[in-house]
Amino acid sequence: MTTVVCKFGGTSVADVERINAVAETLMKHRADGEDVVVVVSAMGKSTDALVEMAAEINPKGSARESDVLLSTGEQITIALLSMALEQRGQPARSYTGAQIPIVTDSRHGSARIKDINPDKMRADLDAGRVVVAAGFQGVDEQGNITTLGRGGSDTTAVALAAALKADECRIYTDVDGVYTADPRIVPDARRLDRITVEEMLEFASLGAKVLMTRSVEFAGRYQIPIRVLSSFEPGPGTLITFEEDDTVEQPSVSGITHDLDDAKITIRAVPDKTGIAHAIFGAVSDADFNVDMIVQNIGDDGMTDLTFTVRRAEMEATLALLEPIISELGAASISGDEHIAKISAVGVGMRSHTGIAATMFEALSAENINIQMISTSEIKISVVVEDKYAELAVRALHRAFRLDEA
Ligand code: ADP
Ligand code: ASP
Ligand code: MG
Repeated sequence: MTTVVCKFGGTSVADVERINAVAETLMKHRADGEDVVVVVSAMGKSTDALVEMAAEINPKGSARESDVLLSTGEQITIALLSMALEQRGQPARSYTGAQIPIVTDSRHGSARIKDINPDKMRADLDAGRVVVAAGFQGVDEQGNITTLGRGGSDTTAVALAAALKADECRIYTDVDGVYTADPRIVPDARRLDRITVEEMLEFASLGAKVLMTRSVEFAGRYQIPIRVLSSFEPGPGTLITFEEDDTVEQPSVSGITHDLDDAKITIRAVPDKTGIAHAIFGAVSDADFNVDMIVQNIGDDGMTDLTFTVRRAEMEATLALLEPIISELGAASISGDEHIAKISAVGVGMRSHTGIAATMFEALSAENINIQMISTSEIKISVVVEDKYAELAVRALHRAFRLDEA
């Protein structure tokens, strides 16, 4: 028997009609003789509604209680979908993360999966049942409910696929695959038939929210084939592959991503002496805050300016952490800026093409968009620009790399 894990995101289970449509899709998989584990998200934007309610009651509420609250959304969907399957004569059983169990560490709000026991799921599959699992949640070793971070149902799906040694993980969503840019922003973005796991990892971590980054990491580590598909219309979707297709010439750039979840911190006039970077970034890293791009300029006067990006949600906490440290170091000032966007061009083809950066800078300059920071790796170039230019920049780069044409 083929075992598949299918995941349906919020829009795909937004109401009773959509849940019935999901049940119909799953009935087809069963009729094709597949063993099916299905992972679902909370209905529509209900997780956002829970986040807002929590913030109204207590903006500084504990992460533990936040997880107890946020995990409820998925529990509604698993029950309703199981009922929809039963209604169609298909036995089904719903499970919360703790019931499976999906054991995680205790980092509430961004927990990492440590262990999944597939025995109960396998027994259900062998008995002809569909397993309906709540995405996004787990349980720590002390029995506390945890969540994996926003968008975490993708990670649940791939992790369950790995635990079950499933043949494929199908991510059903509101677009019919992975595109050369967010199709909501670039109307002539193209669907990719295939994308390598390496590129998909860059796409995801640089802002393409179609897959959570951790889910792609799992897929790479355990060699789980993922297919991204529309839950609204049939189609081939996009297959995430493990090998580059060397029969066709790689385009220099495969896609453009944007990320509006970063903020920039600037420290001015720090005395330029040994150990400065360690004093600053060591403290940030000890506090578990994520630093991405770093730029350091050294002046003639023995002073240096440092600019770096952090997650926007962590900017205030990072500033509060660093204020006493930079005053001890004798720096002039520290300030934060939330109005930035990170725009990236991604492609394994960059390895064998030159002039990518030049094309990128030319296209942005033609639109009068000022570049604040630049960072490059073998297969991506990222720039930071003012956030109001994000969409314009993505469209300009999509055009400059002729991604609408191929
Ligand atoms: P789900 O609720 O199904 O998990 P998400 O909203 O998390 O769905 O992810 C799907 C969305 O990802 C799409 O609606 C699209 O706007 C966005 N997206 C961003 N970049 C891309 C891209 N390169 N290709 C496809 N979708 C993208
Ligand atoms: N419901 C969660 C969220 O909105 C998890 C998910 O949808 O993947 O982030
Ligand atoms: Mg998602």
